[in-house]
Amino acid sequence: MEKTSPCRGCGAAEPDLVIDLGRQPLANAYTEPDSAPEPPTACFPLAVVFCPECALVQIAETVDPAQLFADYVYLSSSSDAFVAHAGALADALIGQMSLTAASRVMEIGSNDGYLLEHYHRQGIPVLGIEPAATIARIAEDRGIATVNEFFSADLARRLRDHGLTADVLHANNVLAHLPDIHDALRGIETVLSPSGRLVVETPYVRALVDHLEFDTIYHEHVFYYSLSSLAGLLAQHDLVVVDVERLAVHGGSLRVHAQRAGVAQEGPRVAELLAEEKDAGLLDLAYYEQFASSVAALGERLRGCLAALRTEGHRVAAYGAAAKGTVLLNAFGIGAGVIEFVADRNPLKHGRLMPGVRIPIRPAEAILDEMPDVVLLLVWNFAAEVVEQQQAYIDRGGRFLVPLPEPRFIP
Ligand SMILES: [Zn+2]
Repeated sequence: MEKTSPCRGCGAAEPDLVIDLGRQPLANAYTEPDSAPEPPTACFPLAVVFCPECALVQIAETVDPAQLFADYVYLSSSSDAFVAHAGALADALIGQMSLTAASRVMEIGSNDGYLLEHYHRQGIPVLGIEPAATIARIAEDRGIATVNEFFSADLARRLRDHGLTADVLHANNVLAHLPDIHDALRGIETVLSPSGRLVVETPYVRALVDHLEFDTIYHEHVFYYSLSSLAGLLAQHDLVVVDVERLAVHGGSLRVHAQRAGVAQEGPRVAELLAEEKDAGLLDLAYYEQFASSVAALGERLRGCLAALRTEGHRVAAYGAAAKGTVLLNAFGIGAGVIEFVADRNPLKHGRLMPGVRIPIRPAEAILDEMPDVVLLLVWNFAAEVVEQQQAYIDRGGRFLVPLPEPRFIP
C-alpha cells in the first residue's frame, strides 16, 4: 500500500503503516451456502495506520457503512457474559447519575436492547438507535423503543427537536465503527443533556498490540483507540473525560466517561492512564513497528500446529462464527480443508458459510454430535464461558485450541 487517506481524527497527511492484511472479505458478511464463491470485488483492502500527530490508530481505507451493516447478524444477547456485564454497568449509572422515571437513557448501536433492557425494567425511559433492521425489530419485540437508523449529527438534531435528549448516552463498541467520527461526535454533543454523561466502551489499542489481537482488525472497525487519542477527539467537541476504566471484555477494552467541559470533575484515573500511555510509548510509531512481523510469526506457528494435528489424523472444527474468526481464518489462510465446521449459538448464522473461507456454520450442539478431536476457539475473548458451556465435550476427551497470543490447548 503506497498511499493512505489523511488522518480521520486530525487531518494530518499520510499516517504510517502498521500492518497490511491485504484484500479481505467483509468479516460479518456470512455467505449463503448456494452462492458462488466471493468475487475478488467482494474483498477490500485492509490495512492499519498510525497518525504521529494525534496518535490515532485507524484503518487506511473504509467501506461504505450501508454495505457493511445491512445484513448484520451479531446478537449481543448470544453471550451470557455480555448480558451480565451490561446489567452491572446499568445499575452503577442509575446510582451515580440519580436516574428516575423523568430521565432518559439512549444507546447508539443498541443491538437487540440487551443493555437498555436493564434500565427499562427499572422504569427509566430508554431509546435505542440501531441501523440493522433485523436487530432493531428484535429489540422492539422485547419492548425497547428503537430508531432504525444510522446515528449521525442529523439524526441527533431531529431527536433533540422532538425533545429527546440523553441523561446517559451509551456508545458501546460503536465509536470505533463510525468512519465519519466528527459527525458522530457532533451528534453526541447535540443529543446529550446539559449535565448528561457519555459512556463509551471501545477495544483498547494496547490489547491489540501487546496481545497480538490482530483479528479485531476488520473493515467495520475503523479506529483502535488509546485514551490519549480518544480524549483528543472528544476535546474537539467540548467533551472532557471524567473517568476511565480498563475492562477485560473483548480481550481488553476502555470504558470512558465524558461530560461537557465544566460540568464534572476529572477523576484521578484519567491523568494516571494518560501518563501511563505516554510512558509505554503509545504516542510514538516505534510502539507499533514490531506488530506486523509478530502477527506473521504467529500465523506460521498456528498453521504448523493445525497441520500437525491433521497429519496425526485428528479432526478439527472451530467455535465462534464471529468477525474475528473470519479475519483469523482468512488472514492465515486456514480453510475448509482444515476446519470441518464452525459452531455458533446464533441461529441467524446457522446454515451459512464463513466469508471467504466458506466453512459451514452449525449450531453449538454440533460439537457434541460430531466430537472433533480439537476445536479451534475463534472467540478466545469468551474462552472461559465457551469452555464452561462445552464441559461435556471436554469430559468426553475433546480439546480446545486457543489461537493467540500464542497457540495453546485447553485442557
Ligand atoms: Zn491524526
